[in-house]
Amino acid sequence: MGLELKPSKTKISHTLETHDGNTGFDFLGFNIRQYRVGKHHGAKSSTRVILGFKTLIKPSAENIKIHLRKLGETVESHNSAPQVALIKRLNPIIRGWSNYYSSVVSAETFSDCDHCFFEKLKRWAYRRHPMKNRTWIMRKYWHTKGNDNWVFSTREGENPLEMARHRDTKIVRFVKVKGNRSPYDGDLIYWSSRLGSHPEMPAEKVYLLKKQKGRCTYCGLHFQDGDLLETDHIIPKSKGGKDNRDNKQLLHRHCHDLKTVKDATGTQDKRAIGERSRMR
Ligand SMILES: [Zn+2]
Repeated sequence: MGLELKPSKTKISHTLETHDGNTGFDFLGFNIRQYRVGKHHGAKSSTRVILGFKTLIKPSAENIKIHLRKLGETVESHNSAPQVALIKRLNPIIRGWSNYYSSVVSAETFSDCDHCFFEKLKRWAYRRHPMKNRTWIMRKYWHTKGNDNWVFSTREGENPLEMARHRDTKIVRFVKVKGNRSPYDGDLIYWSSRLGSHPEMPAEKVYLLKKQKGRCTYCGLHFQDGDLLETDHIIPKSKGGKDNRDNKQLLHRHCHDLKTVKDATGTQDKRAIGERSRMR
């Protein structure tokens, strides 16, 4: 394509373990490499041949180091500040960092970080009270919550402030995009139902698409790009149905017509037919 690679930003590396340790590569704070695994866990080639490894994306060692250093410096700059101030400063750092890695293989890293940082906080606490014994200190800064006896939190006031922990971040693994899809293919329906948001589609419609997993609830078929979609009130408003998201569904226009007739039959309520709202 006529593009040139910048040598300083280019690295050629094996992705599976090698004798010299030059394995995998870091990109935007993620480490990408392949690990040898048993035959039941490995990836398969397109011809179903077992490859004997799988690809894992994890937080990079370099970024873990930087993050822990930042936490450490924050603690040190709060040597004489109250616990509440320290927690308020730490929480956004911990949550922000964990969120960035919440879609990759991070659980182990998260609990390592918590463990490492616990040691740091212990030193912070001991230093503040050189004349007190360690049990007294631990009881002052760590409290029990549920099954956990080691929650770094305040006890003052009505609602104690807790420090966020890396391992409390839920890990949601990435859902692989279908092979022939591209975000630039203009298929709003596929991308909206997959992502739950789309810049070119109204929020309510995206919400419904995601909830319905991209299918018309009347005929059960997947919506195709270019289909005419309409919002239907599951219980018609004329029968007391509410005008909120829970009472709405997306239908093909022709399915909507069929449903509206069905809703109206028996009651002969003509208003039901005029009740549609067009979104496209
Ligand atoms: Zn339909």
